[in-house]
Amino acid sequence: MPVHHKFQKVVDFIRTQFPDKDFIPLHEPLFIGNERKYVLDAIDSTFVSSVGAYVNKFEEMMASITGSKFAVATVNGTSALHMALLVAGVKQGEEVLSQAFTFIATANAISYTGASPVFIDIDSATMGMSAEKLQNFLEKHVTLKEGQPYNKSSKKRIAACVPMHSFGLPCEIERIATLCKQWNIPLIEDAAESLGSYYKGRHTGSFGQLGVFSFNGNKTLTSGGGGAIVTNDENLAKLAKHLTTQAKMPHAWEFSHDYVGYNYRMPNLNAALACAQLEQLNSFVTNKRELAGRYSNFFKGEEIPFIMELPEAKANYWLNAILLSDRAERDEFLAYTNEHKVMTRPTWTLMNKLVMFTDCQHDGLEVSQYIEDRLVNIPSSVRNNA
Ligand SMILES: *Cc1c(COP(=O)(O)O)cnc(C)c1O
Repeated sequence: MPVHHKFQKVVDFIRTQFPDKDFIPLHEPLFIGNERKYVLDAIDSTFVSSVGAYVNKFEEMMASITGSKFAVATVNGTSALHMALLVAGVKQGEEVLSQAFTFIATANAISYTGASPVFIDIDSATMGMSAEKLQNFLEKHVTLKEGQPYNKSSKKRIAACVPMHSFGLPCEIERIATLCKQWNIPLIEDAAESLGSYYKGRHTGSFGQLGVFSFNGNKTLTSGGGGAIVTNDENLAKLAKHLTTQAKMPHAWEFSHDYVGYNYRMPNLNAALACAQLEQLNSFVTNKRELAGRYSNFFKGEEIPFIMELPEAKANYWLNAILLSDRAERDEFLAYTNEHKVMTRPTWTLMNKLVMFTDCQHDGLEVSQYIEDRLVNIPSSVRNNA
């Protein structure tokens, strides 16, 4: 079959899934609930900035949804990651184990703390950190000194581990959590893409000391811009809330501060939007999982690998993903589909190839490279069935 004929079949199928669209975007937000009502209510209340009822309500909803004791609202997912790393104790000159296969925000947030990332390969089934590769790295390169993990070659302390649930597909988080415990490494999940995704019935982001979410406009749910940290540790939650609000000491009128703080708190206006969106999380995820099911059937027939959740996981299928045969076919597919107004996207350039991170240690990253060459994300928006 000529390759363009095969690509046209894909374009035709995607069009059947979004019949009312001429240009089909990768992921667009959908506001069909209480969004207008709550945003107008926030405006009428005059509490549009970083204090307001919706910010508190948002935190309660996030804690409840993720099964965590505490949630702290932030201005975006990147600041949530930065803050989670800070309160976990990551410092200048230390190292953080993470993925080269991730969105730049993960590696940037690590850099903000003055620490440097070490890149562990991903698993070809989950697209997230491989527990086996993590174990290999720990056994080969890490030693415990007075209970603290140190990198044998760089002599630096390993201050945290940040796996990422790629495209909303839960990674092998239970095994990773066990390894982190064994090696006394704080676990911070980058769950920015996996709101509504579960591993063995437990919400992603709730397996480590801290979990981080994003409410950017292209994610499953959006607050315009926003993020959240979840944790069961009251001290970490209190410190995160304090540091995201300029570390201002509570007082009726005095301005006093006891840390270099940050202006990282989510505004109430955004939280109003977030609360309305969170009310629809279950129906959005159901809708996305149905689309993923239809994609899966179609691509089986085309003999194009479609990335599925692990049997023990329940993914939100934030961005659906397929694998082409090689980089050349990937590029042809991207050109063809985008020319035909079906938006598709390659995955991120691996972090270790970016000038800022070329000196960072990694474990070979064979699977990451294989996936970078072949993976394409296809249109995944929640469809408006109303
Ligand atoms: C979106 C995203 C972030 C950052 O979220 P923002 O809200 O855009 O700052 C972090 N990590 C990953 C993996 C993401 O996809």
